[in-house]
Amino acid sequence: ASSTWAKVPQGPPVSITEAFKADKFEKKINLGVGAYRDDKGKPYVLPSVRKAEEKVIGSRLNKEYAGITGVPEFTKAAAILAYGKDSSALDRLAITQSISGTGALRIGGAFLSRFFPGAKNIYIPKPSWANHAAVFKDSGLSVETYSYYDKNTIGLDFEGMIADIKAAPKGSIFLFHACAHNPTGVDPTPEQWKEIEAAVKAQGHYSFFDMAYQGFASGDIHKDAFALRYFVEKGHNVCLAQSFAKNMGLYGERIGAFSIVCADAEERKRVDSQIKILVRPLYSNPPIHGARIAAEILNTPELYDQWLVEVKDMADRIITMRALLKDNLEKLGSKHDWSHITSQIGMFAYTGLTPEQMDTLAKEHSVYATRDGRISVAGITSDNVGRLAKAIFKVKG
Ligand code: PMP
Repeated sequence: ASSTWAKVPQGPPVSITEAFKADKFEKKINLGVGAYRDDKGKPYVLPSVRKAEEKVIGSRLNKEYAGITGVPEFTKAAAILAYGKDSSALDRLAITQSISGTGALRIGGAFLSRFFPGAKNIYIPKPSWANHAAVFKDSGLSVETYSYYDKNTIGLDFEGMIADIKAAPKGSIFLFHACAHNPTGVDPTPEQWKEIEAAVKAQGHYSFFDMAYQGFASGDIHKDAFALRYFVEKGHNVCLAQSFAKNMGLYGERIGAFSIVCADAEERKRVDSQIKILVRPLYSNPPIHGARIAAEILNTPELYDQWLVEVKDMADRIITMRALLKDNLEKLGSKHDWSHITSQIGMFAYTGLTPEQMDTLAKEHSVYATRDGRISVAGITSDNVGRLAKAIFKVKG
C-alpha cells in the first residue's frame, strides 16, 4: 500500500553539525555554531542570568498563561532597551513578546503580508541570514534582494546598496540588520546609515529592522542601536524584531519581541488588536520563564549594570579572537590582507575563502564552518586559534 507521505521529497540538511559530530579528531574545531562559547569552547550562561533565574524561581510565581502579547514587564523593558528610554516611539509602540528573533520576524512578516498597503515585496541584503528568505516567503511576502557585500573588498558595497534602494519601486519594504550583519560581519558606518536613511526616505520605503545582536557587536547597547534610533528620530515608523538569544545567552529560552512604531496612540491600539488576532491562532501566547528572567535583568538596576558588563566581556572576547587570528596569519607569513577579520563586527567573520577551500578545511584540518566562508568567531579560543590560523594558511596561503 502506498504511504500518505510517499511523495514528500528528501530535503537538504539544515545544519553542518552532523559532519562535525562524525569527526573523531580530538582537536576538531566547530566554527559553524551561531552561539557564543567561552575561551574554553564551552557554552556560557551569564552570571546575571543565573542570578535573575534564582530570583524568579525564589519568588515562586504561578505558571498561569501570559496574555497573548506576553509578559508586560518584559516587553516594556525590551522596548526601552531597543529604542532608548527617551524615545518618542515608546508611547505609540505596539509590541508583543515573540518566540525569540525568528518568531519576531515571522510575526512581522505575517503582519506586513496582511496589512502592508503597498506591494508585498521585502528587500533583504545579499547575502543575509539564511533563514530570512524562508521566514518571509512562508509569511506570504515575495523576497527580493539588495546589494550589500562586495567580495573584492570583503566589505560593504555601499554604492550598490544605495543604488538598489533608489531603484526599488517607491514604498517598498526594506529589511536592515541593525548591527552585526549575519553572515558577513560587515556593517555600515554611522555616516553611511545617514545616507541610507536619506535614500530610504526619498523613496518612501518602509524599514524593518532585525536586531539580533544588540550589545554583542560593539559591546555597547546604545551604539549598536544607532541605526534603529536614527531612523525613528528621522520620522520612520519602523518595525523591529529583537532577540535575547545572543546578548543574554538565552538561546533555548526563545525570548524576543516584535514591535511596530505607530503614528499615534490611536493607531497603536488598532495595530495592537491585529497583532493579537494574528498571534492567537499561531501559538495562543508565549512562554513565560525566559521573559521573567530577561525582565528581572532589565528592571533591576544592579542586575542590569552587571549584565551590561557581561555583554561587553563577550563582545570583547570576540574582538580579541579576531585580532589574534589576524596576527597569527600574518606571523605565518600570509601575504593576503586580513584586515577585514578585525574590521568586521559581531559573532561572524566572512573570511573570503571559497566553498572548495572550506571543504578542504573540513576534510584535511577538521575545521568546520559553512561553505560560504563564514566562520563563527565565538568558536575560536586562545587554545585553538594557532591551529586554525595554520589550517587557513595551508588552504589559502
Ligand atoms: N536574525 C539574525 C540576523 C540572526 O543571526 C538570528 C540568529 N542566528 C536571528 C535573527 C534569530 O535568532 P533567534 O530566533 O535564535 O533569536
